[in-house]
Amino acid sequence: MGIRIDGKAVSAAFREKLKEDVARLTEQGMQPGLAVVIVGDDQASRVYVNNKKKACQQLGIYSEEYALPGETTEEELLELVNRLNNRSQIHGILVQLPLPRHIREKVVLEAIDPRKDVDAFHPQNVGRIMIGDYRFLPCTPAGILELIRSTGVPVEGKECVVIGRSNIVGKPMAMLMLHQNATVTICHSRTKNLAEVARRADILIVAIGKAKFVGADMVKPGALVIDVGMDRDENGKLCGDVDYEAVEPVAGYITPVPGGVGPMTISMLMKNTVTAAEMALEAAKGC
Ligand code: NAP
Repeated sequence: MGIRIDGKAVSAAFREKLKEDVARLTEQGMQPGLAVVIVGDDQASRVYVNNKKKACQQLGIYSEEYALPGETTEEELLELVNRLNNRSQIHGILVQLPLPRHIREKVVLEAIDPRKDVDAFHPQNVGRIMIGDYRFLPCTPAGILELIRSTGVPVEGKECVVIGRSNIVGKPMAMLMLHQNATVTICHSRTKNLAEVARRADILIVAIGKAKFVGADMVKPGALVIDVGMDRDENGKLCGDVDYEAVEPVAGYITPVPGGVGPMTISMLMKNTVTAAEMALEAAKGC
């Protein structure tokens, strides 16, 4: 029987430590500040933004929310990003995705000052992750690293298979596992013999967005299984990309959905905001 990795507990412990960092920075006159920008009325995005605001309050991070109407122009959004780039009280800027179709995501993400890019989506930060010289790690992969760390399972030398190659999860995840000296295979929708490749994994990370796609036949006995998916099953209930009931008896460790990767993602956003404030403090001292 696999040991359930409790994302809520790992996240709570992580936030306790962060709270101390926030208090220390605040004492030094550099209370971390996060601006969250949401355009339009996407319900899922609204829930994410509310959760981010709540996490800020819980940790003592200053936060501002900009809820803009769906008809906001790209120019208006860029103007706001530019203003936030120049505000010393704001250390992190997060533009909630997806944006309405008339706004080019790429242009907006590239307009964020890379030192305030707490999502780590700016090409400069993506490049830094590639060469292993990063300020911020993208939130979901960074949260997964913490979950793996919490198990005490060493990563070095392990076979790691990442299913999914999105810029947000799969690709950076694979890169971070490589930095941890795992031997990494990345799979995607054109991968041949997926089950066979997945079964090689000591650490299997699944981020594809397909409900209960990974069954016991795709998992090596004793493997550490991380389920990133946030899907709906046939009854509309939240579930992951991994069939938890089927895989749990085979796996060594497994994350549930909900309560696995999800809670870690926001904690990592908070961590990046603290890192951005620390960088601002260092820069101020250097002046
Ligand atoms: P995405 O951008 O849609 O990418 C999905 C990836 O999965 C693609 O690379 C795709 O391959 C691959 N894929 C799709 N079907 C496949 C199949 N049958 N076999 C093998 N590979 C397949 O998704 P994403 O943004 O990475 O998100 C993935 C899941 O994670 C979603 O459920 C999302 O909601 C969830 N998520 C959760 C969190 C969290 O905090 N918990 C954060 C982010 C995302 P191709 O490239 O070949 O098309």
